[in-house]
Amino acid sequence: MVFASDTAEALEAAVRLANSELEPDTLTTLEELEAFFDEFEYTGSRPTSRDLQPVRSIRHQLHVMFTATRDGAVPLVNAILQQQVAVPQLVRHGDVDWHIHATTDDRPLAERILVETAMAMVDVVRADEMSRFDRCASDDCEGVVFDLSRNRSRKYCSTTCTNRAAVAAYRARQADAD
Ligand SMILES: [Zn+2]
Ligand SMILES: [Zn+2]
Repeated sequence: MVFASDTAEALEAAVRLANSELEPDTLTTLEELEAFFDEFEYTGSRPTSRDLQPVRSIRHQLHVMFTATRDGAVPLVNAILQQQVAVPQLVRHGDVDWHIHATTDDRPLAERILVETAMAMVDVVRADEMSRFDRCASDDCEGVVFDLSRNRSRKYCSTTCTNRAAVAAYRARQADAD
């Protein structure tokens, strides 16, 4: 395993969040925010309509952080940890074994996501694993690919992009055959 499971999960969630900003925007309602919250099993207070705009507005910041170089990511990560006054604590809850929380459950969701992502990025930078992040291989897609697979086989940010590439490859083969 490249990273501890809480690090990997935090990054999967934050990459999904960053990519939700791509057209068509898939985070425009409280229902969509709740679905995101539930899918990634966030702890703490459930999102309300007041969380929607703040969570939407951190997506670009996350995107910039994931597409930065290693040295470029460092000041972005440090700025979040400093601004949010992150205090790492080992916690255990539900059936999740000891892991780190660096903010408290009563903070707004957008702040919790920022801190959780920044803490995960600490591991990425220390392990020199920024190459796990890449730009989606699909033409005209700004999506972020986060690849934890051993053979680094992920090329596309979403099933939409994977399918679109498969269709394009199929058409290209058909055109060659004609
Ligand atoms: Zn936790
Ligand atoms: Zn894509």
